[in-house]
Amino acid sequence: MWFDTHAHLFLLEGPHTVEQNPPVTFSEVIQAAIDQGVTRILCVGIDVETSRRSIKLARQFPDRVWAAVGIHPNSASSASLADWDEIVELARDHSVVAIGETGLDWYRDYTPPPVQVEWFEKHWALAKELGKPLVVHCRDAEKDITEILSRWAREGVLRAVMHACAAPWEVVSRWLDWEGIVISFAGSVTYKNTKFAPIRETAQHVPSDRILVETDCPYLVPEPYRGRVKASVPLHVKDTGYFLAKLRGVSPEELAAQTTDNAIRTFGISPPKKGY
Ligand SMILES: [Zn+2]
Repeated sequence: MWFDTHAHLFLLEGPHTVEQNPPVTFSEVIQAAIDQGVTRILCVGIDVETSRRSIKLARQFPDRVWAAVGIHPNSASSASLADWDEIVELARDHSVVAIGETGLDWYRDYTPPPVQVEWFEKHWALAKELGKPLVVHCRDAEKDITEILSRWAREGVLRAVMHACAAPWEVVSRWLDWEGIVISFAGSVTYKNTKFAPIRETAQHVPSDRILVETDCPYLVPEPYRGRVKASVPLHVKDTGYFLAKLRGVSPEELAAQTTDNAIRTFGISPPKKGY
């Protein structure tokens, strides 16, 4: 049984619409994943509207789908303080098990860096107040993220998922010195290009009690579907999971159990019921 710890289910509509005839609905995508062993999904908001929709999906699929609420660094430039008030309100919902997606993105320039840092800090304060983990996006920003995390770790209990990890092992090994950090791998770990080789090296080294797996759907379609389908869906977490299992020399069943246990612990959700 797999846990897709990072899915933007609401983005499967519009330009990323899953190519199927007749078109599939969110419910069908989720049900298909559940029926085929991806029994748990964290739906991650990127702004107020999608955070609200994530909660709605979580309510529709109790004990299967949970929500994370936040303002993505690339959405932060268009967010207002009223939006933040709403995130703070939504974050208290019982289906919300993490705060984010937040973080720093130095690859895109949708939001000026100081503004991104300011929003990242807001998310941290909220996560700390509510005792929920952060979901962190780190793109070409390893150095600054490490500095910020190190400061936070000195200030209090730091709990965070480093999502779609693309950082080299020398950086990730530092992150892992902070107890509450877990590392999540997406489809990019399966990519054959040499530029993705450091992700594989990192994925070999992360201890078995600190690793998660995700799709980041609709992005990062894993091999063997890369270039063949338009959007990834939660079901694809199994392809990334099988790849990781082989890379780490464990059975897929073992990796599924480890990553699911780690996610359940990280998000503080109730332990599995029989048959889940
Ligand atoms: Zn994401």
